[in-house]
Amino acid sequence: MKIAADNIKEFGTTEAIICPRCGKNVFMQLLKATNGVGVLNVPLLTFNIDLFAICPECSSMFAVNNDIAKKIGSSNKTNKYSMVNEKNITFLKDLK
Ligand SMILES: [Zn+2]
Repeated sequence: MKIAADNIKEFGTTEAIICPRCGKNVFMQLLKATNGVGVLNVPLLTFNIDLFAICPECSSMFAVNNDIAKKIGSSNKTNKYSMVNEKNITFLKDLK
């Protein structure tokens, strides 16, 4: 899987969480949109989100809960990505 978009940057990796789609224990890749317009044909303005998690096993794309995304963005803690878990992500689309 390759994501090539100027408005997307890798943001980090989650702790091991259970993917809601494939049920596997995975470290999801976090991506942050920097211009808020849209990414991978997902209209961000509609969802009002800018942080995504992607499952390396099934290539499902999830939106990270906005409150969590804001906390992560303003946190300097090294374990901040552990705030992302299967309870605060919402399935958006399948990237396969
Ligand atoms: Zn998965």
